[in-house]
Amino acid sequence: MTAAAPREGSDPQRLLDRIRELLGPGAVLADPAETQGYCIDARRKFDAPALCVCKPRDTAQVAALVSMLHAEGWPILPQGGNTSLCGGATPDDRLPVIVSTERLNRIRAIDPFGLTIAAHAGCTIAQLQAAAAGQDLHYPVSLGSEGSCQLGGTIATNAGGTAVLRYGTTRANTLGLEVVLPDGRVLDMMRALHKDTSGYDLKQLFIGAEGTLGIVTAAVMKLYPAAPATAMCWLRIAGPEQALELLKLFRDRAGHSLTAFELMNAQQLANVLDHGPHAAPVEGREGWHLMVELADSASVDLDALMVEGLERAFETGLILDGSIAQNLTQAEAMWAIRHGVTEANARVGVSITSDTAVPVGCVPDFIARATEAVMAIHPGIQVTVVGHVGDGNIHFIALFPHDLWAALPDRPGIEARVRNAVNDLAIALGGTFSAEHGVGRTMTGLIERYKAGPELELMRALKRCLDPGGLMNPDRVIGPA
Ligand SMILES: Cc1cc2nc3c(=O)[nH]c(=O)nc-3n(C[C@H](O)[C@H](O)[C@H](O)COP(=O)(O)OP(=O)(O)OC[C@H]3O[C@@H](n4cnc5c(N)ncnc54)[C@H](O)[C@@H]3O)c2cc1C
Repeated sequence: MTAAAPREGSDPQRLLDRIRELLGPGAVLADPAETQGYCIDARRKFDAPALCVCKPRDTAQVAALVSMLHAEGWPILPQGGNTSLCGGATPDDRLPVIVSTERLNRIRAIDPFGLTIAAHAGCTIAQLQAAAAGQDLHYPVSLGSEGSCQLGGTIATNAGGTAVLRYGTTRANTLGLEVVLPDGRVLDMMRALHKDTSGYDLKQLFIGAEGTLGIVTAAVMKLYPAAPATAMCWLRIAGPEQALELLKLFRDRAGHSLTAFELMNAQQLANVLDHGPHAAPVEGREGWHLMVELADSASVDLDALMVEGLERAFETGLILDGSIAQNLTQAEAMWAIRHGVTEANARVGVSITSDTAVPVGCVPDFIARATEAVMAIHPGIQVTVVGHVGDGNIHFIALFPHDLWAALPDRPGIEARVRNAVNDLAIALGGTFSAEHGVGRTMTGLIERYKAGPELELMRALKRCLDPGGLMNPDRVIGPA
């Protein structure tokens, strides 16, 4: 397979005219002032032009557009909410056509008996949550970007978020899929079935494929009964070892009501409190911090479960300090701290963020060894840690204050050393370098670094089979063989 470059002899202006004719006025942006927001990534690290941004309004238009670009040999970049944290959704130097799903934003159907929702790929996650709540149901995927990120983007990245412990990742909640293949054919697998063993489960190929195998245009997702009761607390603890003990303690007591279990270190909390409008959730910042959320039907006494769990934890010395949210406002204030991490860190400096996951029992060892390895690279680095510790997904962040970063002689070299140190360690512990954000641009080449033999060969064979011209989001996930 060769990496895609516009076919020799292709005339960009003529192609643009044909796309305009196909999609109609208003659906194609080509003026750089209008396309800019689609060409810069969420972390503002990557910025390159696209030939144009297309906004098809239905699956038939996506299929016709992809078919035209395929015949023309022109690179295609699917884009959802453009909230990718690894540069996956913005152009490289190939001048791709961005296919934005933002106008594919209709909810097709909600089935309150089968507990499913069928929706177009451009619906935001917040839109799905609101539609489900309108029928007293719950859409389970929840993440800091949920107001902007879209169903198609979360499927393409197999997004995780803060409720994986209870509901699983996006993959675990996907029942059916509609995909436009790289040659423009439509693969209709929109089945709202909880059981289906009729051959290979092809939809799995497109979940987490980051738009390299096709464009997701619609999906059927699982819903759950609404969990109107919640209980939430913020705990200050000595370290990640205590977090694991508390995970076991709460799981034993609260079972499936345990919904979120989020860890951060003192430096991370300090960054959020010092660079945002938040009040401290507990007295003292030293040590580590844990957010625990329980959610269930109104018939379960979550407050009693929470208090009982905390009493036991205090007795056994697992907690240094803690506070229970007394109402929804206080719970939301705790979540605001958790969701304020990315913005606060951007104010402090330049983050080299990992998206590692390790087996849950290895989390303390991983954090200790990664800290040591990163500090050995540069002593001025601020290490911040924020993680969905209940599922082993730790965002280990090497944060360079802006003035230090500006003065560094070899920034790309240092970034590579930091990434390799952290990711090598995760892999050595049986983990992964990409738990929920995807590979995108920042981790290009890591598949080849960490996967080998038949696994890598099979990935390449799949890409060749579905996209022999290498046109669909070229060189993301897996590079040319
Ligand atoms: C503040 C903040 C908090 C975040 N928190 C989390 C978190 O807790 N957990 C988590 O997992 N992620 C998190 N993210 C990352 C990001 O929101 C997710 O990766 C999300 O799934 C991306 O969705 P999107 O619609 O924005 O996709 P985009 O960013 O537009 O695209 C992401 C990738 O998917 C491809 N793609 C997009 N749409 C389609 C489609 N319809 N068909 C095929 N390919 C497509 C793109 O080409 C790209 O490769 C966070 C981001 C921010 C900014």
